[in-house]
Amino acid sequence: MRTMTLGKTGLTVSEVGFGCIPIIRLSQAEAVNVLQRAFERGITFYDTARMYLDSEEKIGKALGRVREHVVLATKTTQREGKAALAELETSLRLLGTDWIDLYQLHQLSKPEELETALGPGGVLEALRKAKEQGKIRHIGFTSHSLEMARKLVATGLFETVQFPFNLVETEAGTTLHPEARTRDMGILVMKPFAGGILDDGGLCLRYIRQFPDLMVLPGLDSLEYVDEIADLYEDEREFSAADEARAEAFRAELGSRFCRRCGYCQPCPNGVSITNAMMYGVLAKRLSPAKAVKFTRESMESVRQCIACGECLDRCPYGLPIPDMLTELLEMYERHCNECLA
Ligand code: SF4
Ligand code: SF4
Repeated sequence: MRTMTLGKTGLTVSEVGFGCIPIIRLSQAEAVNVLQRAFERGITFYDTARMYLDSEEKIGKALGRVREHVVLATKTTQREGKAALAELETSLRLLGTDWIDLYQLHQLSKPEELETALGPGGVLEALRKAKEQGKIRHIGFTSHSLEMARKLVATGLFETVQFPFNLVETEAGTTLHPEARTRDMGILVMKPFAGGILDDGGLCLRYIRQFPDLMVLPGLDSLEYVDEIADLYEDEREFSAADEARAEAFRAELGSRFCRRCGYCQPCPNGVSITNAMMYGVLAKRLSPAKAVKFTRESMESVRQCIACGECLDRCPYGLPIPDMLTELLEMYERHCNECLA
């Protein structure tokens, strides 16, 4: 496993990190095994969050004995300083450590939260004090809003940025990443497989590897998957013309109507489960119509409550025509239901 330097943090990390959301669904023993296998395979960066339920505790149990050799990152969704410090203390206790290498403001995307977070008594002020006390070594942020992420990078207040980037969500590559580079920030990539929509792991990783200063964070949840990702990262093949053709085919398939599952369109005042319903077409293609109907029935039935009020339209940062898409997806779902009955 190759290593890299994470921007101005100066941290040396493996080129691929461990996104820890999926270990939530594992038992503690399973999670410990998976985390330890990742360490054995050379993965030294582990990214969790206070809101990922018991994942910090599992990391603490799995990696406590090798603490000096791993880089631990966690996050808080709190915007007030006092509440954030309480979360920091909980994270330190559960991770079983005296310091957190990278502490991130989690999902800072809403403009109304910015003033609180960066103002007096806000989370950033509190974290700077915690940094002086040695409880935190570096401060970064994560976001799903390109506009907000660019604004935060421009403040010069953060050492790292974590944002979605993959071969179909490429916007950050031409805007956010160059801006972060000029400030020598560490750049972390979430959703390298577009949230599970892209099923060719090798292709996705080769795409991201074209940019050697990007640190990628796939979510890992089994020994086999850890080995698969580590093997892919030991494969030195470069992104080829054939890869680009395949990437283009994915882009064409998903098109400009690709829902990123960011959830900003929610909640719907009429109870439509928008984000889940928006995935119906992709699921039907990737699984099978019968399975998609079974897994998404509740969400798809909620689409009948849509009155096309348009409230969600303003909230979608990607400008997707949500009510029209929901109507089309509901028609597809009904067709599949009928086929399943036939
Ligand atoms: S357009 Fe439909 S889905 Fe969107 S907010 Fe209105 S009722 Fe909900
Ligand atoms: S419809 Fe837009 S806002 Fe809603 S989850 Fe998809 S991309 Fe995000």
